[in-house]
Amino acid sequence: MSLLDYDRCHVWHPYASMVNPPPVNLAVSASGTKIRLDSGEELIDAVSSWWCVVHGHNHPVIMEAIRKQTEKLSQVMFAGFTHEPAIRLTEALVHHLPEGMDKVFYVDSGSIAVECAAKMAVQYQYSLGFPEKCKLLALKGGYHGDTAAAMALSDPSGMHALYKGVMPKHFFAEKPRCRFDGPWEDSDFDSVTAQLDAHGSEIAGIICEPIFQGGNAMWFYHPEYLRRLRKICNERGILLIFDEIATGFGRTGRKFAQEYASVVPDIMCIGKILTGGQITLAATVTNGQCAEVICRSGGFCHGPTFMANPLACAAGIASMKLLDEYDYLGNVRRIESELKAELECCRHSSNVADIRALGAVGVLEVHEMPSREKIQRIVLDSGVWLRPVGNYIYTMPPYITTTAEIHQIVQAMKAVAEAV
Ligand SMILES: *Cc1c(COP(=O)(O)O)cnc(C)c1O
Repeated sequence: MSLLDYDRCHVWHPYASMVNPPPVNLAVSASGTKIRLDSGEELIDAVSSWWCVVHGHNHPVIMEAIRKQTEKLSQVMFAGFTHEPAIRLTEALVHHLPEGMDKVFYVDSGSIAVECAAKMAVQYQYSLGFPEKCKLLALKGGYHGDTAAAMALSDPSGMHALYKGVMPKHFFAEKPRCRFDGPWEDSDFDSVTAQLDAHGSEIAGIICEPIFQGGNAMWFYHPEYLRRLRKICNERGILLIFDEIATGFGRTGRKFAQEYASVVPDIMCIGKILTGGQITLAATVTNGQCAEVICRSGGFCHGPTFMANPLACAAGIASMKLLDEYDYLGNVRRIESELKAELECCRHSSNVADIRALGAVGVLEVHEMPSREKIQRIVLDSGVWLRPVGNYIYTMPPYITTTAEIHQIVQAMKAVAEAV
């Protein structure tokens, strides 16, 4: 049996049927912006392998850091032990994170970072004597991961609806409507106020993806929304949680998307880009005041087996160092202006409903999405790896993507839009 035949029979892929699996490509190696297939073909990774490989694949500095760490310590339990990679990574993070965000809880994936943020918010209220405040307010159109607590905070009409039975119940405000670069309207915030008026006695905090709603909406919204969130959380004694797992470390054109609103949350989730996308690691971060309140009721009850894995921390330190060493925000700004200019050529395609771009994110919203098989054909013909979601053909390329590659990526996106 060939590798791909065996894969088809036994290896279950993300969001896929095991009975009638969609086509997959056999990757054998990758470097820079390119993934090489067993056929010898190369694909430009226009989605940074799910938004995280920003410095490029197999980055030599990150690989060397992992290799060196394997010679000393590749895993040790994090209860009762600590190690230099975790300590040095925390130092680097505290330097990069907004001022005051300096208590770092490591976990193994973004979804778990969201779960921990929700638990921290609930424990914060519990410590203050409000055990009934054990729900969160989240936004329609949001995406926070695929584990039960993270699904429960993601868009309730999205892809997870069938798993309702296993999810805790939270409250939802309407999806923010005002565009990032459009006018602000006060009414955009009404449903947050209404939800808090109706259910405030049960709500521990509000969670959102600041500025950029990714997985479920591919939508950029107005910074004023975040300022209003900060204000209403302060007024009502509830916590503000920003899920910066996709937006953190430059993706939207600022180091953190929250900077567009000059707002700092109480709890932040980071992941994806944390290790340059080379190995899984995420973190839930809070400030000293929140940590103090949370811990009044004792320890924080969470501890993944591979918490703060030394190899992952070593990769994280190297990735943070790279952020200090090249002008990644300059690259992202260049990519943004190229995406904005290039995407204009798609505006008048009849299948295109909207085009938008911010930072190193470019989106073609279409009325109708071609079949996976048609998309796979375009991917192989164009040499550009795209993985549309919902009605969105998007790119989130590595920060090292060249001008010529951006052109090639947008041409492939256009071909997908026009393939219906
Ligand atoms: C990807 C993502 C997650 C989930 O992270 P995983 O590492 O896939 O569990 C959570 N929130 C946001 C905003 C994300 O983009």
